Amino acid sequence: MALVEHWISGKAHKSSSKRFGDVYDPALGVVTKQVSFASVEEVQVAIGAAKTAFTSWSNTPLAVRQQVMFSFRELLNARKGELAEIITAEHGKVVSDALGEVTRGLEVVEFACGIAHLLKGDHTVNASTGVDVHSTREAVGVVGIISPFNFPAMVPMWFFPIAIAAGNTVVLKPSEKNPSAAIWIAQLLKDAGLPDGVFNVINGDKVAVDELLTNPEVAAISFVGSTPIAKYVYETGTANGKRVQALGGAKNHMLVLPDADLDFTADAAVNAGFGSAGERCMAISVLVAVEPVADPLIAKVKERIEKIKTGDGRRACDMGPLITSQHRDKVASYIEIAIKDGCDVVVDGRGVKIDGDENGFWLGPTLIDKVKPTSSVYTDEIFGPILSIIRVKTFAEGVDLINSNRYGNGTAIFTNNGGAARKFERDVQVGMIGINVPIPVPMAYYSFGGWKASLFGDTKAHGAEGVHFFTRGKAITSRWVDPAQSTAGGINLGFPQNK
Ligand code: NAD
Repeated sequence: MALVEHWISGKAHKSSSKRFGDVYDPALGVVTKQVSFASVEEVQVAIGAAKTAFTSWSNTPLAVRQQVMFSFRELLNARKGELAEIITAEHGKVVSDALGEVTRGLEVVEFACGIAHLLKGDHTVNASTGVDVHSTREAVGVVGIISPFNFPAMVPMWFFPIAIAAGNTVVLKPSEKNPSAAIWIAQLLKDAGLPDGVFNVINGDKVAVDELLTNPEVAAISFVGSTPIAKYVYETGTANGKRVQALGGAKNHMLVLPDADLDFTADAAVNAGFGSAGERCMAISVLVAVEPVADPLIAKVKERIEKIKTGDGRRACDMGPLITSQHRDKVASYIEIAIKDGCDVVVDGRGVKIDGDENGFWLGPTLIDKVKPTSSVYTDEIFGPILSIIRVKTFAEGVDLINSNRYGNGTAIFTNNGGAARKFERDVQVGMIGINVPIPVPMAYYSFGGWKASLFGDTKAHGAEGVHFFTRGKAITSRWVDPAQSTAGGINLGFPQNK
């Protein structure tokens, strides 16, 4: 059986560790590959390679670093279909969705191609008499990136193009559930001319993550995953002196006002609720219906759900399987909880008719009405194709509900009332907001990240905040004395003041 190894110093690194994980094709329900789980020593070898490469890469001219990124962009754009197929084979999302993920990642690569503008410092002439001040931004060093299963290409691409273009070197630890995309990307970066050691991939589990979090040679950690692990990563990484950005889980609400265009809203709710089988951190998982909109909205959503074709992502289907059978069973268990909690299961995705192998990890789109805010169907991040509905009486009650939730990743309002939309934007305590847009993932030149339990640390991914995260500033104050004037300033033990 094929074994996914590590990638260190520009080549596949055969693991000496005897620990392995299974990689599934979720649409077939079979193990297709195994993945090596790195030992502490192997992670140290990767960090050492990145450390060695840092000296020359951080001193490589910016124009050359950008040219490598530009070549990578060209290669990836030409071959993105191959990457999409790799993603579908290990994640299960339909190929067109996988292609969408790669395209959104490419936007960050394109952003990184123009990073020169954001690495410029400032310069003040004659800040004091004969004194000039300027600032620079420099790479931080070796960067660890730890990514989740749901975006095996896009999430690493939120970080490494910016980190590398800014002069850092990288050790990526992808999800052990779908590791092949990262290795394919590593080869492509090499083909684009990236020097060996600048980008390394370590496969594995907590052992690899813990070494990245504690190794003194790692300067910064970018993590994306569930909230409990994000919190752990943030606390452990910062306790070990690293800068850490740790993006966590989500529960994204769509507030629907009675004046909304219901066909448009129902399309958006279904697309954002069930795309990628609900395994998106920006998936809409709760419709907050301001009465009397619930009944007509539910009728339209139900009508659309009945048209969704669930099946193998390589066929002409809309929605693929879940990542593992355990995860599918866990997601499905919330349907039982909903019934026990007195909710109304409008569409039950268990036993869905599928266009695919019966052994795949299937669960069809599920719609649950009258969910109580105290039910774990609402309080937990389910991360699957379950869309809940909570009925509220007023706009204010809806906003209060959203603000009381522990997560604050994304949210959306659907309305034709500009005043209500504006008030929503101001009052809601969430990091990314859509107004008649259900998945408001910011463009690469803005920054991606939530509030509350959806982001630990104060810096979001990509955009200007991403550049800031992967660089640190220097402010230089200099005085060059005019040769025509005396250099002597006299003895003065007072604190320097501007003159
Ligand atoms: P996860 O937290 O299980 O795993 C994320 C990474 O952490 C993986 O690389 C994994 O190997 C590692 N990991 C797992 N357990 C660990 C442990 N005990 N110690 C150290 N490392 C550990 O997340 P997942 O299931 O792969 O991904 C889904 C989650 O990611 C969801 O909660 C989703 O909301 C979140 N997510 C968030 C964003 C965002 O931008 N906020 C984006 C994508 C996914």
